[in-house]
Amino acid sequence: MEKDIKSMNYDSLCEYIVNLGEKKFRAKQLYQWLHEKLVTDFDMMTNMPKNLLEKLKEDSYITKFNILQVLESKIDGTRKYLFELSDHNVIESVFMKYKHGNSVCISTQVGCRMGCKFCASTLDGMERNLTASEMLEQIYAITRHTGERISNVVLMGSGEPLDNFENVLAFLDMISDENGLNISQRNLTLSTCGLVPNIYKLADLKYQITLAISLHASDDETRKELMPIAKRYSIDEILEACRYYFEQTGRRLTFEYSLVAGVNDTVDGASKLGELLKDINCHINLIPVNPIKERDFKQSEKDNIEKFKNRLERYGINVTIRREMGRDINGACGQLRKSYNDELLKVKEGET
Ligand code: SAH
Repeated sequence: MEKDIKSMNYDSLCEYIVNLGEKKFRAKQLYQWLHEKLVTDFDMMTNMPKNLLEKLKEDSYITKFNILQVLESKIDGTRKYLFELSDHNVIESVFMKYKHGNSVCISTQVGCRMGCKFCASTLDGMERNLTASEMLEQIYAITRHTGERISNVVLMGSGEPLDNFENVLAFLDMISDENGLNISQRNLTLSTCGLVPNIYKLADLKYQITLAISLHASDDETRKELMPIAKRYSIDEILEACRYYFEQTGRRLTFEYSLVAGVNDTVDGASKLGELLKDINCHINLIPVNPIKERDFKQSEKDNIEKFKNRLERYGINVTIRREMGRDINGACGQLRKSYNDELLKVKEGET
């Protein structure tokens, strides 16, 4: 089997190159071609010896995608990318422009198996994990396509990053490697629905990334209605793991809370949440739920969202309401991929 050369971190690449009988500095050059200059073809590596390139071509491949679709928001310049992988699976990524820099939201799996009720990514289950190179290439392809430097990456697209742990760790190492795009770990955010054992493992590795927890409820019963994972781990267990994460890394936590009208948006719920989080160094991001057509969840009223926020702030917690980016281009997680695959299915069914 050909080797996925773009998933090799710097050390593995050195080992690989040395095993091919080459000098170690070639590994550094190669790494820079792949991860800094972002080329997708061995023939573009002009300072490398021809015979080495031939060997590499025989033994390995460079992950790249077809761009199937780019949707650009007329409101704020947000772009949604639909990429086709080499096995024809389809994933989506989002490019967002902020005052403090450009941000990309990447997928970590094809689909998702966590089953959160309001989320489009999980409706058809999980197909497979993405490799490190497939996570990197989402950023690389967008960098090439926009011509802009990306300064922030959020692992908040389709998939559960802590359910694809090893590949995500390799990705974190490589995206922050000084020989690659060298994005500071402080500018990386990993969002999880709360796979407790892996939060502990991540904490022990002491990455300087921001951990974001999708909480979405202030009691276990409500959480179970929205998120099947709540049947496995209680809110208390998650918060215990969060405290440990802060002790180990010194990084302030983020809690995401998608507000669903009539389900988790009462002011009493906000008080409970405030009580739970007041002794944790954290920031809360309130997200007005983005309704998907397969479910009848509705956004909370603006007024309710404000009240929820005010109540939380009484506990001295820093709260923001997430600005909706790209509202005109099929905003929420996994919706673009889902509608693309559904259309494809219709076409195929039409054929038979
Ligand atoms: N699996 C990870 C990351 C992916 S989702 C996680 O659960 O955190 C990124 C965030 O968007 C999560 O907080 C998720 O719960 C939320 N989300 C997904 N679909 C949404 C929707 N339709 N409206 C609002 N938030 C949504």
